[in-house]
Amino acid sequence: MTYSGFRVIREALTGHKGWRSVWRDAHPKPHYDFVVIGGGGHGLATAYYLAREFGEANIAVVEKGWIGGGNVGRNTTIIRSNYLLDANEPFYEFSLKLWEGLEQELNYNAMVSQRGILNLLHSDAQRDAARRRGNAMILNGSDAELLDIAGVRKLYPFLNFENARFPIKGGLLHRRGGTVRHDAVAWGYARGADRQGVDIIQNCEVTGFRIKNGRCLGVETTKGFIGATKLGVSVAGSSSRVMAMAGMRLPIESHVLQAFVSEGLKPTLPGVITYGAGHFYCSQSNKGGLVFGGDIDGYNSYAQRGNLPTVEDVAESGMSLIPALGRIRLLRSWGGIMDMSMDGSPFIDKTPIDGLYFNGGWCYGGFKATPAAGFAFAHLMSTDRSHKTATAYRLDRFRTGHMIDEKGQGAQPNLH
Ligand SMILES: Cc1cc2nc3c(=O)[nH]c(=O)nc-3n(C[C@H](O)[C@H](O)[C@H](O)COP(=O)(O)OP(=O)(O)OC[C@H]3O[C@@H](n4cnc5c(N)ncnc54)[C@H](O)[C@@H]3O)c2cc1C
Repeated sequence: MTYSGFRVIREALTGHKGWRSVWRDAHPKPHYDFVVIGGGGHGLATAYYLAREFGEANIAVVEKGWIGGGNVGRNTTIIRSNYLLDANEPFYEFSLKLWEGLEQELNYNAMVSQRGILNLLHSDAQRDAARRRGNAMILNGSDAELLDIAGVRKLYPFLNFENARFPIKGGLLHRRGGTVRHDAVAWGYARGADRQGVDIIQNCEVTGFRIKNGRCLGVETTKGFIGATKLGVSVAGSSSRVMAMAGMRLPIESHVLQAFVSEGLKPTLPGVITYGAGHFYCSQSNKGGLVFGGDIDGYNSYAQRGNLPTVEDVAESGMSLIPALGRIRLLRSWGGIMDMSMDGSPFIDKTPIDGLYFNGGWCYGGFKATPAAGFAFAHLMSTDRSHKTATAYRLDRFRTGHMIDEKGQGAQPNLH
């Protein structure tokens, strides 16, 4: 099914009877060449690129719930390519370039909006670090501008500039960053994958792996055994639980992260802002609600809901940056499970088990990675070689001493 203005008008005039399901409700076959576990953004993108870019066929995505029910539909929708390290920035720049062409590629309106993201700075040291990061971004083909106080004030005059515990001293502006409608990404990739012949199997939980002589032969599921020549695990917050079924212990902890949406306001925030003195980030949705979030809840959990102390903490951070926030009403909040790696960077790698591949450890930042993670994981599964932008995302990097500690915070999930 395709969408066009003409089609929308025709359906409106004929009672909306012509719309069909966007993807087939597939039932598992006994064996596939490729099975991707997890129907989130990453899993669906992987299946799509396996078929579309690498010419593979006989592919299935196995999802325990419904498409879009995981983090891909729970995040705060921010995309950006503003990293410091060479192990990261080329990857996120590749992702941003894929975002820029995604709607044309999928013929799906994902509301990709490059409205700019501004990291606020509150000290001389932060300005120095931002200048260094901005230079690294530019060297890797991204964009960055250092703003002084007047520059920030021009864009966001209502921020708490002087009368604050941490006065604003400037900002690092990344104009190509922005937001994307998150669940449309899942639906767009699902439709694209389905069109390439991929079977999307919902309500099908993987409950175990069949491994013989060091080779993965397939998965046990609530819909029976599904054989696979190559199996990719892409289950985000459930990574440690699912890989434990294959006998692997990962350098990943699962934590809850919450998101919040306010009542609708007139256009207020032109772009995305992040607070440099607390953990708070905020944008305004096309419906007018402020969409914001902060820290993880701070303890290990697999529950997709958060707790009140973190709500208070996020609200305090928000208020200290934008005092006027105190007058708006909160409409909704929810939680998702984060796969927090020990250095804050992800994994896209083969496992020691033949035929079993792993993509995970995306922490807070996996939504912006969706197109590139799908592409790079498909590249790895198809060719058995890492994509050139993802060579550092190895599972053995803690053993070999090649950590990718983007923030220089050390091995503690709540600091990344
Ligand atoms: C509140 C919040 C805000 C965030 N904000 C941002 C942001 O602004 N920008 C950004 O870049 N990132 C953000 N993230 C992170 C981002 O959403 C995730 O890193 C990313 O979505 C993870 O990849 P995914 O889409 O494939 O995950 P998911 O959508 O969670 O997909 C994984 C799927 O695996 C399935 N699964 C699990 N176990 C099994 C099993 N046993 N069998 C079969 N299927 C299984 C799950 O049901 C799920 O659908 C945020 C996350 C949260 C929770």
